[in-house]
Amino acid sequence: MAASVLIVGGTHGNECNGPWLVQHWGHEPSQLQRRGLSVRTAIGNPEALQANRRYIDNDLNRSFIPELLDDPSTPCLEGQRAQHLLASHGPEGITPATVLIDLHSTTSAMGSCLVLYDRRPAALALAAGCQERLGLPIYLHESDRAQTGFMAQAWPCGLALEVGPVPQGVLSPRICRQSELGLAALLDVLEQAAAGRLMLRRALKIHRHLGSLDFPRHSDGEPSACLHPQRLLGDWKLLAAGEPLFLQPDGTAIPFAGDPSGPVHTVFSHEAAYQEKGIATSLTRQEHWPIDPSWVAALQALLQA
Ligand SMILES: [Zn+2]
Repeated sequence: MAASVLIVGGTHGNECNGPWLVQHWGHEPSQLQRRGLSVRTAIGNPEALQANRRYIDNDLNRSFIPELLDDPSTPCLEGQRAQHLLASHGPEGITPATVLIDLHSTTSAMGSCLVLYDRRPAALALAAGCQERLGLPIYLHESDRAQTGFMAQAWPCGLALEVGPVPQGVLSPRICRQSELGLAALLDVLEQAAAGRLMLRRALKIHRHLGSLDFPRHSDGEPSACLHPQRLLGDWKLLAAGEPLFLQPDGTAIPFAGDPSGPVHTVFSHEAAYQEKGIATSLTRQEHWPIDPSWVAALQALLQA
């Protein structure tokens, strides 16, 4: 039996490029066809998409938590939606999917990247294979107690494909094209793994999440500075101690104090949706991880089960 892959667009209702691609693939299903795979699509949060809002009651990509999933009478729309997606496509669902690919866009100047939420070996293999093909950076968004309940963690193998920069609610042919390229590479990796032929040769380059920085704030909670223009030129770059981080209304810069644990690279600088989360930018550590043979073995075992 072919391994099942679910592609979700519109997990965030104001990210409209993924949902547009879902429509597009409805007309061109051959673009998703790969030997040994059964690929299908879903809209993550139709109500929020209709409203052009990130979410209605709660961020759907933070709603895969026991409090919401285990409460059949939750009034939270995204809690209901998370339950529905799992009941339909989850590992124990009506038509279970093994792999989840969650399409997102960002207002940050990050280009295309993959987001992992933990170190499960199958997703590491999938991300490593995609990085070998396209050179995409990989953000390992782990160990953040303030942010949990990600959709990709609810499937045996899952990750997010994040593409930017694009404003919220704006359909961009360039972002759609970049998303299509990333998705095609992910499916190619899965096809190889399903056939038992996935080979990984290069060490995995990871940007491991260290923490996030909030804006400086007045006592009433309003931001007292914005990100410095130099921080908006592109993420994945080294942020050294003493470099300008924030810009105050009087034109003076607040420099980065440095991180005692070592060099840091920024990601998700100026992500509009993170304003409400009190995140101006996030700090990561770039690491090179040697390929572990157990990663490919885990992915192939999942797909060939
Ligand atoms: Zn998103």
